[in-house]
Amino acid sequence: MKQQYDVIIIGSGVVGSAIARELTRYEFKIGVLEKELDVVCETSGRNSGVIHAGFNNKPGSLMAKFCVEGCLGFDKVAKELDIPFKRIGKLVTGFTDEDMEILKKLKEQGDKNGVPGLRIISEEEIKKIDPNVAGKVALYSPMTGIVNPFIYTIALAENAYQNGAVFFFGREVVAIQRKEECYEVTTKNNEKYYAKWLINSAGLNSDQIARMVGITDYTIYPCRGEYFILDQKASAYLKVPAYPVPNKKEGGLGVHLTPTIDGNVLIGPSAEYLDEKDNYAATKEVMDKLVAEGTKILPQIKREHFIRNFSGIRPKLVEKETGGYADFVIEQREEIPNMINLIGIESPGLTSAVPIARYVVEKMKQKEELKENQNFNPIRKGILNFTEQTDERKAELIKENPNYGEIICRCESITKQEILEAIHNPLGVETVTGVKNRTRAMMGRCQGGYCQTRIAELIIQEKQKKVEEVIYSRQQGKMFVGGVR
Ligand SMILES: Cc1cc2nc3c(=O)[nH]c(=O)nc-3n(C[C@H](O)[C@H](O)[C@H](O)COP(=O)(O)OP(=O)(O)OC[C@H]3O[C@@H](n4cnc5c(N)ncnc54)[C@H](O)[C@@H]3O)c2cc1C
Repeated sequence: MKQQYDVIIIGSGVVGSAIARELTRYEFKIGVLEKELDVVCETSGRNSGVIHAGFNNKPGSLMAKFCVEGCLGFDKVAKELDIPFKRIGKLVTGFTDEDMEILKKLKEQGDKNGVPGLRIISEEEIKKIDPNVAGKVALYSPMTGIVNPFIYTIALAENAYQNGAVFFFGREVVAIQRKEECYEVTTKNNEKYYAKWLINSAGLNSDQIARMVGITDYTIYPCRGEYFILDQKASAYLKVPAYPVPNKKEGGLGVHLTPTIDGNVLIGPSAEYLDEKDNYAATKEVMDKLVAEGTKILPQIKREHFIRNFSGIRPKLVEKETGGYADFVIEQREEIPNMINLIGIESPGLTSAVPIARYVVEKMKQKEELKENQNFNPIRKGILNFTEQTDERKAELIKENPNYGEIICRCESITKQEILEAIHNPLGVETVTGVKNRTRAMMGRCQGGYCQTRIAELIIQEKQKKVEEVIYSRQQGKMFVGGVR
């Protein structure tokens, strides 16, 4: 099978999906190659979901510039893509004089980066913003926001798709060859794709992809962050994300507490360098540490609030011994024409995805004139969230469509209609986690104990599949081996 494109994007995390969307503003034939069966399976779906304001990053860095731009522009993007976003603010709390000095420096850095509204506040003011957050002093950032990283990435990809980009899932890029005027990209299933432009947005594997074209300068050092997810009941104790004073050496922002946009609370992430890029384990040692550090910031939380854990891996360009952050690398080399490499896109990559995508387009514009796509439509409609409707609207919806009257996921009150819309998503994704990430079904207290098999049943029915063909998430992950009597 041979496919010819103007641009091939490798990887459909938040960055690849944002680039795909941004590029559909121009007259390009765009193909996206993703090794997993859906977008947002790696780092982009495994983070705190915070739209950072931009005070943690070094003035003058790409990280600082894109983070501030991404944060300031997020209301517009969220509106266009019809995704929930809340600018709830954030507290970085300290206890000692030394902490106070670090907070002042953070504020100064944020002011230099152009972050609006930063204030150093007293214990009394902390209590006014969030009575349960412990601290003697804090840096308050009103611009910080929260978002659902799954829905955000899916929305970017769907809008790119609606504007003409084609997504190929289960296509792991294993080789790249420069032919006369184009690149030949080979995937693990031995398909060949050809394109004039190549964009390496492969996250943790971006160093490997760069090596396929002869760039050997980069090594990604995987650094795992583990989280605990707390039940929605715990959200009663936390109004805003609460972070400790950052520890520069660790290369993360420290174990923090973050309310999610869907009403849970996250504790984490830890920071631990690994040898492997795909070790998403959660360890007892770190889990205990998260409980100890989390309860220091928010003493009200108890073991009973903890419902599940997960981990994400930072694609770091700095080794453990060096610590801290290296800036994003977004480069195009003369000797490797028409290829843009994005390497080391760690935090705040979620916040920065759209400005990063615009920067990629600017780099392409330096090489050729891009023709605008007159038909580009930035508006995408998401799946209607039934529980958020008024009682009157709910009654109307059920009357119009009885599928709204049938609850499939009891914990999150997700209706059959929402599940059906997720199964028939524009990207053609058919996995159980694809439905989960689009609707929140299976994300509640019982973690799918009740609804998982019902979702599988609907996939079988709607997609005319055999029981043995239902896939949970990854290619080898078949859910059933057969039926039982
Ligand atoms: C613990 C943690 C917390 C974070 N918190 C935040 C936060 O609160 N706010 C924030 O702004 N940022 C945060 N980040 C950073 C943010 O999540 C990342 O910067 C961002 O998700 C990177 O997106 P990406 O698209 O570059 O990478 P990814 O999401 O990893 O996407 C890369 C894609 O490439 C695919 N791929 C890889 N190799 C191949 C191949 N050979 N062929 C085809 N496809 C391939 C992968 O399957 C993947 O889908 C956090 C990160 C971590 C780990």
